[in-house]
Amino acid sequence: MMNKNEIAKIINNFQKRNIKASYYKNLDEAKSRILELIPAGSSIGIGNSRTLKRMNISTELTNKGYKVLDKTLAKTKEESLELKRKSLLTDWYLTGTNAVSSEGHIVNIDHSGNRVAAMIYGPKKVIIIVGINKITDTLREAVHRAKNIAAPLNAKRAGFNPPCVELNKCIDCSSEERVCNSLVTIEGQADKDRIKVFIVGEELGF
Ligand code: SF4
Repeated sequence: MMNKNEIAKIINNFQKRNIKASYYKNLDEAKSRILELIPAGSSIGIGNSRTLKRMNISTELTNKGYKVLDKTLAKTKEESLELKRKSLLTDWYLTGTNAVSSEGHIVNIDHSGNRVAAMIYGPKKVIIIVGINKITDTLREAVHRAKNIAAPLNAKRAGFNPPCVELNKCIDCSSEERVCNSLVTIEGQADKDRIKVFIVGEELGF
């Protein structure tokens, strides 16, 4: 569990990078804030995330009348591809992340790249939800986490079988089933507060 000073330090480090961070005790609090923050009628892209699935966010937003683009709900590969492309031009984008450093870095590994692309540019606003288990002290540790914890577990979840799935660590493989094609560190934003990081005081996702 992080103490108040540690949380304040992270929020301050993000602020210096034009990223708005805020803290929520649990996922329910974070979800309530999302629902009050996003204006009615907005279009919202959804990044594939265990945390967002746990929030049941796509169903709740759809029921409230938002236009939700969630590729995980697509019925065909073509529809999934189209949703990924259209999500790059939504009003809002919601996603989890692989790691965040307390210095204010946001680190992600992507297979096809749609999620990191949307985080970087396109959607007008982005909300990134992160549990305290994904916060590291340094950028180096955040990259290590993304490669050695998040990527193998995400590969397994997506039905791929690169070497890390058995080894539980990255060997920078050249497997045909490699899931790591983009390793992206967001270090700041030109558009102030476009990215909002919701730090949740629970262990979420992997
Ligand atoms: S590069 Fe290969 S071994 Fe390393 S995490 Fe990615 S898929 Fe796994």
